[in-house]
Amino acid sequence: MTLFTEGAPIADTKAPDGPIETRWDRHRFESKLVNPANRRKRTIIVVGTGLAGGAAAATLGEAGYHVKSYCYQDSPRRAHSIAAQGGINAAKNYRNDGDSIQRLFYDTVKGGDFRSRESNVYRLAQVSVEIIDQCVAQGVPFAREYGGLLDNRSFGGAQVSRTFYARGQTGQQLLLGAYQALERQVAAGTVEMHARHEMLDLIVVDGKARGIVVRDLVTGEITTDFADAVVLASGGYGNVFFLSTNAKGCNVTATWRAHRKGALFANPCFTQIHPTCIPQSGEHQSKLTLMSESLRNDGRVWVPKQKGDPRKPGDIPEDERDYYLERIYPSFGNLVPRDIASRAAKNVCDEGRGVGPGGLGVYLDFADAVERLGQAAVAAKYGNLFEMYERITGEDPNEVPMRIYPAVHYTMGGLWVDYDLQSTIPGLFVTGEANFSDHGANRLGASALMQGLADGYFVLPNTISDYLATGTFEPVGADHPAAVEARYAVERRVARLLNIDGDRTVDSFHRELGRIMWDYCGMERTDEGLRKAIELIRGLRDEFWRRVKVPGSAGDLNQALEKAGRVADFFELAELMCVDALHRTESCGGHFRAESQTPEGEALRDDEDFGYVAAWEWAGKDTPPVLHKEELNFEYVHLSQRSYK
Ligand SMILES: Cc1cc2nc3c(=O)[nH]c(=O)nc-3n(C[C@H](O)[C@H](O)[C@H](O)COP(=O)(O)OP(=O)(O)OC[C@H]3O[C@@H](n4cnc5c(N)ncnc54)[C@H](O)[C@@H]3O)c2cc1C
Repeated sequence: MTLFTEGAPIADTKAPDGPIETRWDRHRFESKLVNPANRRKRTIIVVGTGLAGGAAAATLGEAGYHVKSYCYQDSPRRAHSIAAQGGINAAKNYRNDGDSIQRLFYDTVKGGDFRSRESNVYRLAQVSVEIIDQCVAQGVPFAREYGGLLDNRSFGGAQVSRTFYARGQTGQQLLLGAYQALERQVAAGTVEMHARHEMLDLIVVDGKARGIVVRDLVTGEITTDFADAVVLASGGYGNVFFLSTNAKGCNVTATWRAHRKGALFANPCFTQIHPTCIPQSGEHQSKLTLMSESLRNDGRVWVPKQKGDPRKPGDIPEDERDYYLERIYPSFGNLVPRDIASRAAKNVCDEGRGVGPGGLGVYLDFADAVERLGQAAVAAKYGNLFEMYERITGEDPNEVPMRIYPAVHYTMGGLWVDYDLQSTIPGLFVTGEANFSDHGANRLGASALMQGLADGYFVLPNTISDYLATGTFEPVGADHPAAVEARYAVERRVARLLNIDGDRTVDSFHRELGRIMWDYCGMERTDEGLRKAIELIRGLRDEFWRRVKVPGSAGDLNQALEKAGRVADFFELAELMCVDALHRTESCGGHFRAESQTPEGEALRDDEDFGYVAAWEWAGKDTPPVLHKEELNFEYVHLSQRSYK
């Protein structure tokens, strides 16, 4: 069976050249600006009010553009970004421990297993410094040291402390900052806020993104809205696995609908499995809970040396414990990157040394830290995380080690964008987790918030002006044939979902899809497993369209209908993820192909054959997708087998 065809290579034509440290400055200087007096004449739709979208909408509003902001939550400040716990990276070097822009750049390219673009990552490291200043000016209450400087801690894949944090609630505090900036613009009249509206299609006119189709989630009304450019900041798609650490509402619909309209989808199989999550407790669970990576600053990961050891952790003496991360990776120890820590946890559990129900867990132990620092100091750093853990498991991490296991957490893949964050549809920009851009095959901890805010506050507001200053924008309205067709298509789909009137719930399909993805496109992937997954997904998708039961009507609040639309898109995405994973017969970062590993069981890259971004084109419902390759070049970071030993 032909699973895909190969098309012409793709290049990032906006990527600047010259010395890497001058590229962003020069690019900004060479970009055209929109005169302040003309900005109010240009309209921009921003879908998403998380850190990426909230920051973008606020900044564009402040600059004087007319912004229309959309989210499906009842308030912009309920976006999933609010869940982020551990922190945000920035190369401030407050600790004077050897950090620099160059080091953050290097760590990120290496951490992503050499599957990201050097220019983008360098810019990210440069801009990281400005983000902290911006947030502090907004009043974000970052943790401080006694002397008054902002405090830092370490995250995986780094040997310096560069992570800024606000206890275990960094995302919440950052989002409140962005939200206040956004609300200021709402009050000033530059931003129109449309909460509880879900974008269900993109309107493309003369090859350019000019609007969206939205459903009012309270009244069910389906309408169109228009702008000179559209920004998608709609977050990641980890919920394709059903069980993940993401908020239940996270979905792929906005980017998938844009993909079907011509935007290429890059590296969809690059999924991050986070090593420190509370293990699944039963079959009826619908959500997994993250225990922040910050805990690995002080927590030590271990399992019993003996298989199936029945003793309580406190009864197992030191010399019968295997602190396997410290043993295998002495340089980075418990702070190896997520992909490495997750695979190591899986390996010890596969060996039969896992702990807790089903043997699917490893210990994260704070006993040493409590002894060294005292309980009060540990509580000051991690108090709310300990409390969350205790509420969910009934166990106090001060008394017994936490039990943790890897879970789906973040998606590095997303819509393909160029250096300007513009997709392959002119006028469609993509920011934050929704794009594929900066993390390669594995994102380092605390780098998602950095990227979302870099995109929203600093990158997009500069790059979109070039597009707006140089383009021509004919008026478009609801009666334009492209808008009429897009709205009809959404209405037909909604009606179709409601009319099936089958006998299986949306959730039952989603759960089964998630299981397939976890088993065959999760922490370890094989040729045979991925082929099987594609067959299973296709069969289940056909069954979905015959048997799904969506109760209620189209004309009011109907969460089953919302979910049905999202799961329908997850089916199509899931197949593309498997095709992408199948075609990439190397291992890199979070993409571990069992057939491609070193003798020590580490991911074995194949730079010769796979040193590219895989950008997929939608070719139609019954036509295999088309692969376009963007070659990656490494001039500043020497390509090497990643080692954290
Ligand atoms: C539990 C947890 C903890 C984390 N901790 C950290 C951390 O400590 N540090 C770090 O760097 N990263 C962390 N991350 C990752 C990080 O939180 C996310 O990657 C990041 O917040 C994503 O931001 P975003 O703005 O791109 O998207 P989101 O915050 O997901 O926002 C998406 C927005 O798009 C809107 N939207 C989506 N689809 C539609 C649609 N079709 N129509 C209308 N609106 C739509 C939503 O309403 C929402 O407003 C964590 C993730 C999780 C799950």
